[in-house]
Order: sequence, then C-alpha cells, then structure tokens
Amino acid sequence: MSGNWWDILPRKIYSKLEQVETKQPWYSVYRIHDWLYALLEDGQYDEALMYLVIGDKRAAVIDGGTGIGRLDKLIEELTDKPYFLLLTHTHNDHIGGCKDFDEIYLYDDPMGRESAANGLGRDKMGEMIEEGAVIKPYPESFDPENFYAPPFDVTHWLKDREVIDLGGRKLEVIYTPGHSSDHICLLDREARYLFTGDTYYTGGVTSYLPGGDHDDFIASCKRLVDLMPMYDWLMPAHNEPLVEPSQMREMYEAAKCIKEGTFTEYTSRRSVATNYDLWIRRYQFGRFSLSVRESLFS
Ligand SMILES: [Zn+2]
Repeated sequence: MSGNWWDILPRKIYSKLEQVETKQPWYSVYRIHDWLYALLEDGQYDEALMYLVIGDKRAAVIDGGTGIGRLDKLIEELTDKPYFLLLTHTHNDHIGGCKDFDEIYLYDDPMGRESAANGLGRDKMGEMIEEGAVIKPYPESFDPENFYAPPFDVTHWLKDREVIDLGGRKLEVIYTPGHSSDHICLLDREARYLFTGDTYYTGGVTSYLPGGDHDDFIASCKRLVDLMPMYDWLMPAHNEPLVEPSQMREMYEAAKCIKEGTFTEYTSRRSVATNYDLWIRRYQFGRFSLSVRESLFS
C-alpha cells in the first residue's frame, strides 16, 4: 500500500453526479441542480469543495478555496448572474480565492476582520503547495513563487440568523464558532441543504487550528443537531457533497465524548501545519477524524 492521500480519489459519490466540462480544469465541476453546482479542487490535498448557488437575481459562491485557480473565470462560465463570495470562515484554504471577487460577505468577528485586513502571507499559504500536496498541473495564471492571500474588502458583514436573498433562493446564516471563531454554516430551508463549512466533512476535522475552540465546537454541533428537522443533506466544504444528516449527530457525539474522556484511543502529534507550536490528539471515527488540542485535557 502506498498510502497517498489521492489514492481514495475520485470519491465514490462523484460517479453518481453529472460532471460539467469547463475551461478551468483545476476545478472539477458537478451539477447537482440547475441552480446548484459543486466546485471541487481535487488536485490539492485539502480537497476544497465550493458551491455555486444561483438565484433569480444573483449567485453566491460559498467559499473561495486555495486561490490556485481562477474562480471568477469558472463562475462566469456557469452563470451570467452577478455573483459574490460568501465565506464560511477565513482559513487559508477558504480565502485564497478572495482575490477573484469584488463583493465578499463574511461573518462579523475579530478573527474575520483581521484576516480581511491583513490577508495571509506566503508563510501561511505555502503549506498548501508543499511537496506532495498538489497532483494536478497548476493553471497558467498561477505563480507558486508568489503565492499569498492579499488583504480583501468585505462588502457585507454578516450577522447570526441573517437571511441572504438571492431571488427565489434564500440562505440563512447560522453562526457556528469552534472550528474557528468566525465560522458560519448556511441553511437553505426550502431545498433543505445545510452548507456545513468545516464543521463537518468526511476527512480530518479540527478544533485546534487558529481561532478554534473545542467547547464552542461542541455547542455549535449541538445547535446544528437541533436544526436537523430543517435539512436533508449536509454540504461540506471539503471532500464530498451530499452527506446524510445523521453524520451531524455523530460529529456532535464525537466532540462531546472526546471532551468527556469517553474515547481513549487517539494518536498524538506535534502540529507542524500551523505557525504555533502545539500538541494535538487525533481521534478516528467512522467517516471522519476529529483533532483537538492536547491542552484541552490539562
Ligand atoms: Zn478551516
């Protein structure tokens, strides 16, 4: 067994979805409805998964991805509606694409304000293009020597429970700190989708990254479990779309049991991916893992 991250690609779900050819091969694009597309960066380790949600009046792009590709060019192939970027939070694999947008929505929180004001330098973006992290050829427009996320203008600061109207399509902001303090999920009550950002995906979920807080993470998962009657599918920001909602309960139970010490099986490692020095514990569950700060237990 070689054990490369890409060995499990393409993930099973994608064979059931309609793939759309575009002039931006950095992204793999799947049509879920005529108003909803999944935009996947399957050439990069994080498998960033963005969504294009098209209303009658305008379109929202949920998350910006790594910024290696040209997200604006891709969106313009898929819709002629005016579009804006709707960030679930400001980690490096979500704000890389901000450079391609004039209009950006973000939750109003100090972490988000700082990310927007300063962007992220090469030191914080570089890990995404380290040796072995990228398996697709870079787009011509991308210069790996000069890879950073410039500061960006937030044109609209979001509030909890705010409803974003796209014209015949509404997204409700659900503030869900824990993975980061500026994190939101987005609920489409009519189509019954919950866009989970990084609060749930079928990969390595974390509460230890910058801005993360495990107690907040537990509380946010609880809030999303309470909302389960309102959605039929989870739409995560990594790996794969269309995950059954019961996984949200599994994430909540996992986060709670880790804190309570019910789970004793974990692997320990020193974090090297971030610019602060800490030990983390990684717990493996059925379809995801959850990694937390070692200091949670001291
Ligand atoms: Zn994140």
